[in-house]
Amino acid sequence: MAMDEVFENLRKLQDILSEKFTMEKDIQEIPKQLVTKEEVLARLKKSFIEKNQEYEKAKTAEGEFRNLLMDAESLREKAEKNMDVINTQREYEALDKEIHDSAEKEQQYRKDLQREERFLAELDEQMKQSTALIEQQEAELAERRAGIEVEIAEKKVKIEELVKQENALTPDLDSEVIFKFERIIRNKEDNSGKGLGIVSIKGGVCQGCHMILPVQFANSVRQGEEIVFCPYCSRILFYEEAEEGEEEFFDNDDSGSLADLDDMEEDDYDDDEEEEEKVNINFEE
Ligand SMILES: [Zn+2]
Repeated sequence: MAMDEVFENLRKLQDILSEKFTMEKDIQEIPKQLVTKEEVLARLKKSFIEKNQEYEKAKTAEGEFRNLLMDAESLREKAEKNMDVINTQREYEALDKEIHDSAEKEQQYRKDLQREERFLAELDEQMKQSTALIEQQEAELAERRAGIEVEIAEKKVKIEELVKQENALTPDLDSEVIFKFERIIRNKEDNSGKGLGIVSIKGGVCQGCHMILPVQFANSVRQGEEIVFCPYCSRILFYEEAEEGEEEFFDNDDSGSLADLDDMEEDDYDDDEEEEEKVNINFEE
C-alpha cells in the first residue's frame, strides 16, 4: 500500500479511536452524576431516622406526664371527697393543703403534657415533609438512573459501530503500529481533549509537540518509505511541505542531529515506552 494511503487510513482510524475513547470515558463518568443525588437522599434518610428517635423519646415523656397528671388528679379528688368526713380544723387544714398542692402539680403536669403534645405534632409534621421529600428524591434518582442506563446503552451501540469501522481499517495496517498509535491517542486525549496520533513534520518541526527534529530524521520522514514516530511525542509523522521562511531549519546546524537524539534517548528515556510518554509531556508547549 502507498504511504499516502496508509496515512489516510491512520487519520480515519484516529477519528474513530478518538470517538471510541471519548465514549468509553463517558460511560465511566456518567454514573458519577448520581453521586450528589445519592448523597442528598442518604442525608434525608439519616435526618428522618434522627427525627423518629426524637419522636419516640417525646412520646415516652408525654406518657409519663399523662400518668403523673392522672395521679395528681385522683389524689386531689380523693382529698376533696374526704372534706365531707372531716371533724377537726387540723384535718381540714391538712386536706386543704393536699388539694392545693395536687392542683398546683396538676397545673404543672398539664403544661408539660401540652408542651410534649405540641412538640410531637411538630415532629410529626416534619417527618411527613421528610417522607415526602425522600419519596420525591427516590423517584428522581430512579428516573435519572433509568436515563443513564439508556444513555450508556446508546453509547455502547455507538462503540460497537466504531469497532466495526476500526476493524475494517486495521487489517491493512501493521499491528505494532496500530498498538502504538492507539496508545498515543488514548494518552494524549487526557491532555488536549482530542487525541492526535498522526501529525505532520513541517519545516523540520513536529506539529504535535513542536520540537525541532534533526535534519536526517526529517529527511527520512520526507522519503516516506516507512512509518516514523516522533522521538519526543511518539506520534506518527508525515511530511508536509514548509511554507516560505520555514525552510531554514533544514540547513541550520543548531537544529541538532541524530547523534544528539541518541544521547537524549539514553539519558532521558527509559526502555519502557510508558516512561517515554511521561517524559514527553515536559517537551510539549
Ligand atoms: Zn513530536
